[in-house]
Amino acid sequence: MEFRDLKRQYAALCNDIDKEIKEVMASANFIMGQPVVELEQQLAQYVGTKHCITCANGTDALVLSLKALGVKEGDAVFVPDFTFFASAEAVSVVGATPIFVDVDAETFNISALDLEQKIISTINEGVLNPRAILTVDLFGLPANYTAISAIACNYGLYMLEDGAQGFGGSIAGKKACSFGDIATTSFFPSKPLGCYGDGGAVFTNNDEWAELAKSYRSHGKGIFKYDNVRIGMNSRLDTLQAAILKVKLKAFVEYELQSINDIACEYTKKLKSVVHTPVVPKGYCSSWAQYTIVLDNKEVRDRIQAELKNKGIPTMVYYPKPLHKQTAYMHLQSYNDTMPVTENLCKTVLSLPISPYLENIEVQEVVAAVCDAINIEVA
Ligand SMILES: *Cc1c(COP(=O)(O)O)cnc(C)c1O
Repeated sequence: MEFRDLKRQYAALCNDIDKEIKEVMASANFIMGQPVVELEQQLAQYVGTKHCITCANGTDALVLSLKALGVKEGDAVFVPDFTFFASAEAVSVVGATPIFVDVDAETFNISALDLEQKIISTINEGVLNPRAILTVDLFGLPANYTAISAIACNYGLYMLEDGAQGFGGSIAGKKACSFGDIATTSFFPSKPLGCYGDGGAVFTNNDEWAELAKSYRSHGKGIFKYDNVRIGMNSRLDTLQAAILKVKLKAFVEYELQSINDIACEYTKKLKSVVHTPVVPKGYCSSWAQYTIVLDNKEVRDRIQAELKNKGIPTMVYYPKPLHKQTAYMHLQSYNDTMPVTENLCKTVLSLPISPYLENIEVQEVVAAVCDAINIEVA
């Protein structure tokens, strides 16, 4: 069994994908070709934003967004402690300081309560200038945007949505990557919408930030390629990846998002009385970048992972270490007290195999293996 079955996805889509790849090869237009323009239009339309600016990966998408917002040295950006390293790394890359915030035990997303406390203590300290809140739609579930946008508004902060895992999720029909003042996603192969290499995108309704993101991704270009008006980077999405993504986006919209939700539903139905299953608040829709259960303690989690592995079932621990405990952030220790929820989740979470192409018989195999492992614990 694969943790995320990309081979079956290719088998299902290979006719269309191969055709698109051949067309790009024949056109020899490998950088910023027509498929990039078409994909950007389709993505913006799907997400419901005025602009989509594709780029080389999801980390660059965050850097481009922060640069467009003008976030810089001396600024504080509030980042959840329980996420992939890149969410904080991008903040550091532009010279700003990530202030870590604990997460909600139920949704795994940034805690509104702890966020407000961290903003207040940063203001009181008076060293850093609070500029933005970076929300992460972790494991496919949009963050609590009602609460977070109210806080952003109160304190005059930008909201940057890291939708690397959130693409396809929604709240009351409004799509992930449309909640932030500016938002990003990643097309890393195993993300909800993945390409065959690295890729990413920035989304916004703001014309000025969209222009800035476009300039920054092409060496800070001005009115033409060899007119450079600011220090930028080289971060474009390859035409080949855009062509592949056009085929994958169609499948994602037509059936993949529904299929993966059906699978998550089945997992929850069978496992909810056995382990702590993921919570999807009313009106929310997850795109299930991960299906993550929570066990009683680290010993149980590690044992279940080992027993599943013995049965040929791959699982992952996302994430084993809080960001504030990463070696790269040891110098920020003075800002970070304990983050009890994140610290506990790092010891107890376990992500199960999921993809739109997982067969029902495999879902039942995983369910049986988890039940088996739990029973042994009880006995
Ligand atoms: C994957 C991921 C990123 C980075 O995306 P890349 O395309 O790998 O650079 C950023 N944030 C989160 C939450 C992610 O999961």
